[in-house]
Amino acid sequence: MNIFLGISAASGINTGKAFVIPEPVQRIIPQFPIKSQDVEKEWTRFVKAKAKISQKIQNQLESLSTESKQDKIQRELFETYLLMLDDPVFLKEVKDEIEDNPFNIEYILDVKTEEYAGRLRNSGNDYLTERAQDICDIFGRVLNELLGIRPFNIEQVPDGAVIVAKEMNPSDTIILSKRKIAGLALIEGGISSHVAILARNYDIPAVFGLERITKEVHTGERLIVDGTAGEVIQSPDATTLNDYTVKIEAEKQHKEKILLFRDKPALTKDGTKFKLYANIGTPEEAKLALEEGADGIGLFRTEFLFMSESSETQVRGRSMSEEEQFEAYRSVLEIMKDKPVVIRTLDAGGDKIISSLDLNTEEEKNPMMGLRAIRLTLQYPQLLKTQLRALYRASVFGNLKIMLPLITSSEQVLKAKEIARQVREELESENIPFNKDVPIGIMVETAAAGITADCLSKVSDFFSIGTNDLTQYTLGVDRENISVAPLYNEFHLAVLRLIQKTIEAASAENIPISVCGEMASKTDSVMVLAGMGIRHLSMGPKRISYVKEIFSNITIDELQAISAKSLNNL
Ligand code: PEP
Ligand code: MG
Repeated sequence: MNIFLGISAASGINTGKAFVIPEPVQRIIPQFPIKSQDVEKEWTRFVKAKAKISQKIQNQLESLSTESKQDKIQRELFETYLLMLDDPVFLKEVKDEIEDNPFNIEYILDVKTEEYAGRLRNSGNDYLTERAQDICDIFGRVLNELLGIRPFNIEQVPDGAVIVAKEMNPSDTIILSKRKIAGLALIEGGISSHVAILARNYDIPAVFGLERITKEVHTGERLIVDGTAGEVIQSPDATTLNDYTVKIEAEKQHKEKILLFRDKPALTKDGTKFKLYANIGTPEEAKLALEEGADGIGLFRTEFLFMSESSETQVRGRSMSEEEQFEAYRSVLEIMKDKPVVIRTLDAGGDKIISSLDLNTEEEKNPMMGLRAIRLTLQYPQLLKTQLRALYRASVFGNLKIMLPLITSSEQVLKAKEIARQVREELESENIPFNKDVPIGIMVETAAAGITADCLSKVSDFFSIGTNDLTQYTLGVDRENISVAPLYNEFHLAVLRLIQKTIEAASAENIPISVCGEMASKTDSVMVLAGMGIRHLSMGPKRISYVKEIFSNITIDELQAISAKSLNNL
C-alpha cells in the first residue's frame, strides 16, 4: 500500500483500477537523402502505410451508427479523409517530389502536406480553409504509421477506471466523463482549472498535484481516490479498503438524503429566497440541470460544445457551423422551457484551445493573458457573428440571455453589441424570426471589470461574476498552476472588495447580478456571497441540492455576520 498526497480538486471518494495515460510522444521528422534506386522502396513504404490508415478509417466508419447526429458528422469527416488519402493530385505531387529530390518519404510527405495545407488556408474559401486541418490530420496519421508512433487513443480507457496522468485537457475530460470513470489522479492542474470544474460537474472525485504518480502506479492496480482529503491510495490493504467502503457507503447515503431538496425552493432557515441555476457545457446537461432542480441555466460554457467535437488524441472534429450551434442552443432552450438560460459566447483560448477553429493564431507565451474569450471573437468577428446568428435564431424557443466573457472595457461591450445589431438586421431582412429584446450581459471576471463596474453597468443588461478568473486576474495567480495553488485565495480581501463593488454598481443601476464562478458552489464561499447580498447563484447541477441544504440550516443574519467577518479580515 502506498499513499500519494495531493490537493483536492473535486470532492467525493471512489475506487477503481488505474489506467495510466502515457505522455504524448512528439513527432520528430528525420531528414536524409536517399539513393535514386531506393525511391521505389520508399514509395512502397508510403503506399503500405497509407493503405493501413485507410483500412483503419474504413473500420471506424463501419462502426458508426446511421441514426446519431454525432455519428453523421463523424462519418462525413471519415469519408473526407478517405477521399484525401487517394487524392491523385496530391499523390502525384509527392511522387514527383521524391523522384526529383530523393529524400526519405517522411520528410517529403511532411513538406508536401504543409505546402498543400498552406495553399488551402490561403484560398480565401471557408470550406477549403477548413480542409487544411483535415489534410494535416490524415497525412499526420500516415506519418505516425511510417515513424512507428502509436498515439494514445482515449477510447481505450475502460469504464470505471481511475485515470492517472500528468495532466488532462478539458476536451478529453468531457469524453471521459461520459464513460463513467471512477476518479482522476493527476500530477498537474489547479483547483479552478476547467478540468477540475468538469470533474466537479460530473461528480468525479479528483486529486491533483500527485508527484510521481504516473511513474509509480501501473495500469490495472487498485486505487482509492479520496477527493475530499486530497489523497490517492495505491493497492490498499484489506483494512483500508474496508474503511473506505464504509465511507463510500456513507457518502451515498448523504447523496440520497439531499435528494429531498431537489424539488424544494432554496431558502434560509428564516425564509430568505435564492435562485439556484446550473452551469453546463453540453445540451445534454440541461436535462440533468432540470432533474437536479435548477431554476434555469446560469452559464452555458459554449466552448465545451466546440471541444467535445475535438480532441488532441482523437480524430479532430469540425468547427461548429451556425446550424449545429442553432440546434444545440435551441435544444437547451426547449428543455428549460420558460426558465432563463444564459448562454455565454465563445470563451476559447487560455487553457481551452479549440483546434477545430483553425485560426492560425501565433502560439502564445502567456495564453491566460492572451487572445482569449471576447478578445478572440472580436479579433475574428465572423466567429462571434455566426454564434450570435445561431443564438438569435434560437431565441424564439425559450428565455435566452446572452453573456460576454472576459470583458475589460465598455468599448468591448459596445463592439459586441454592434455585431449583435448587425445580426438582428440581417435576420430581419431574411425574414427569420428572433427575439429582438434578448438581454446582453457580461461576466465580471477581471479586476478591470470589477473596478469599473459602475461604467459597465450602464452598457450591460446584467452582470455575472466569474470568481474563478476574477481571483486569477486580481491576484495574478494562474488558476492552472499547481505550484501557486496555495496563493489562489478566493477569500482574499481584494477579490471580496471587487465583488462588493460589483454588487453595489449593479444595485445602483438596477440590473440583475449573479455569481457563476466556483465560489457559488462551495460551502464556505457561498455563505460569504449570500451574506454580501447575492441572491442568484449558478453552479454545477450536482451542487444545487448541497447548497440548498447549507441555506436550510442557517439564517440570513448569520450569513451576513459570516461575510462581515471575511470583509473585515484585514
Ligand atoms: C469564471 O471565471 O469564474 C467562470 C465562471 O468562467 P470560466 O471558469 O469558464 O472561466
Ligand atoms: Mg472565466
